[in-house]
Amino acid sequence: MPANIGNYQEFDKYNYYGGDDLGVTLVDGKTQFRTWSPIADGVYLKVYADGTGSNLVEVLPMERRQSGVWFVEILRDLAGYFYTFVFDFHGNVTETIDIYAKACGVNGVRGAIVDLKQTDPDGWDNTPKPACASPCDAVIYETHVRDFTIDETSGVSFENRGKFLGFCEKTKGFKGVPTGIDHLCELGVTHVQLMPVADYARVDESKPHKAQYNWGYDPLNYNCLEGSYSSDPQDPAARIREFKQLVMALHKKGIGVIMDVVFNHTFYTEESAFHKSFPCYYHRRRNGSFTNGSGCGNETASEHLMMRKFIIDSLKFWVNEYKIDGFRFDLMALHDIETVNIIRDELNKLDPQILMYGEGWTGGESPLPSDKLAFKWNSYSFGRVGLFNDNIRDSIKGGTFNAYERGYVSGNHNAAGTICRALAGCVPHSQLNGHHQESCWAFEPTQAINYCEAHDNNTLWDKLCISVKDESEQMRIRMDKLAAAILMVSQGVPFLQCGQDFLRTKPRVLPEGEQPNDWNIFDENSYNSPDWTNSIKWDRKKQYREVFDYYKELIRLRKSSYLFRMRTKEEVQEHLRFYGQPDGNLLMFSLKNETECFLIAINPYQEQRKFYVPESLWAQDSFRLRLDDQGRSVKTPLKEREFTVEPVSLAVYKK
Ligand code: CA
Repeated sequence: MPANIGNYQEFDKYNYYGGDDLGVTLVDGKTQFRTWSPIADGVYLKVYADGTGSNLVEVLPMERRQSGVWFVEILRDLAGYFYTFVFDFHGNVTETIDIYAKACGVNGVRGAIVDLKQTDPDGWDNTPKPACASPCDAVIYETHVRDFTIDETSGVSFENRGKFLGFCEKTKGFKGVPTGIDHLCELGVTHVQLMPVADYARVDESKPHKAQYNWGYDPLNYNCLEGSYSSDPQDPAARIREFKQLVMALHKKGIGVIMDVVFNHTFYTEESAFHKSFPCYYHRRRNGSFTNGSGCGNETASEHLMMRKFIIDSLKFWVNEYKIDGFRFDLMALHDIETVNIIRDELNKLDPQILMYGEGWTGGESPLPSDKLAFKWNSYSFGRVGLFNDNIRDSIKGGTFNAYERGYVSGNHNAAGTICRALAGCVPHSQLNGHHQESCWAFEPTQAINYCEAHDNNTLWDKLCISVKDESEQMRIRMDKLAAAILMVSQGVPFLQCGQDFLRTKPRVLPEGEQPNDWNIFDENSYNSPDWTNSIKWDRKKQYREVFDYYKELIRLRKSSYLFRMRTKEEVQEHLRFYGQPDGNLLMFSLKNETECFLIAINPYQEQRKFYVPESLWAQDSFRLRLDDQGRSVKTPLKEREFTVEPVSLAVYKK
């Protein structure tokens, strides 16, 4: 029963509803319900005693009001009850959860009526959000709630493993090594990016002890939390309270919380709450069919005003109710540029420090013209919003789509030019004019989210194990550390995947009959792989302590000076200077202002190389080694202008 809207702009002009009261409102002992569905012939409210099962309490017709809003008020406080809406379109009757539901029963079938104020943990109002003056001050660490503590090496109590409560538990550590939340503090990251924590579809919340796993990019209810991370998925308030405990525990440690949001598609299409509430309005279509720009069966239509409003309302809700510090947009290029800019404006009104960035690509072809969408190549049209920097990712370690391809740290020295661009935050720089223009895309350094490992594709360590498998483990460790060092001395916003700092690996479960080879023993798409593949194995932090310590020193170095975190392209132009070497693969640059001067030299070769302090910077006895290949500093000053950089490593000198 596709609605024949025709011209959506015209339709929205007459039917847009701008109120901030859609969903359930508890007010003065009364309970009000509102939903928007302009072409419905009738809408009914069903109230239930539980989140599933036959326990209907009452059915009430809703009253049609202006702008396609349907309303009903019940003269008592219904907190503790559950509800759905029933829509009638010319006799086609469907029952669904409210798209605006802020709480839900098990598996997100029915909305739950919860007095959210009652879910605040003690101290919630008095715990401030951490400050973050610029995105460049952030060090982002991506993880998954379950992965973080499900392994016994996490040192988290058995009952809390894999849950919101485990995430914020003070852990026992692993054989003297801090784990869990204490690990985050030890490493020094400023923000944790949680893979989707909003309600998703493919884990059965009613079976908490069944072996199940999903990353969560199968969104169901956008304003509800995922129940499988809760101590009691049957109790709608439990997941809310426990997630707030997680946020509060991180805020108390000065760490911000970034949500990974998946507004680009809905897991179900015809069966989604959106389509059932207003057929065909919330998704993009072409020639009467759903389009598939997400690669997941559909794509949402952010250019339709009530879909746009839904996204904005949802983000504001997460900020206001849960004190969220940032958002990472999955397949952001499916959202139109106008929506993306409006979101930034709206977030600025709440708190300009809220981080906002996303993937500047799609998972398929969208019917919207590509110049209207938030693709990376349109970056200048939404310069206040960050984008994942696939240029630095691929030049550091080699392209992600060919496991054998090598990068700058692993022997492909052709990548040196792109690395220079990345070191300069991918903003224009007069010394790089005309070179590697495709990697000069950022409007400001704040826009470049610099990474070489995230949840998608092989981990950096696995990629090295495949692409340079004949090298010694020691040499691969040098490559891994150099990769991290390049990220941390690049202008922009550094991003690490949890466990990258102790050589995270994702072993793959080989199906019966499949012979192992170089690459199939590693999982490059572990979205529903078992814990054995995905979980953080904290014993590796003990095993590769030296690698962890090096990452920690890199973060300390980055935090030590503004010169590593410049906010504008003008500052980068003024304070960053490259010095050509006889060998173009040896990179050297300085970061210098009135008070400080760093000289950074990168040697990608598997032998020592000599570098020379540029004459313009040289002053006798002034340069000291600030960071060597082991993360150490040396107090004795340089006597000569020349210095040696160890194989496959980076050296930082400070004047
Ligand atoms: Ca769920």
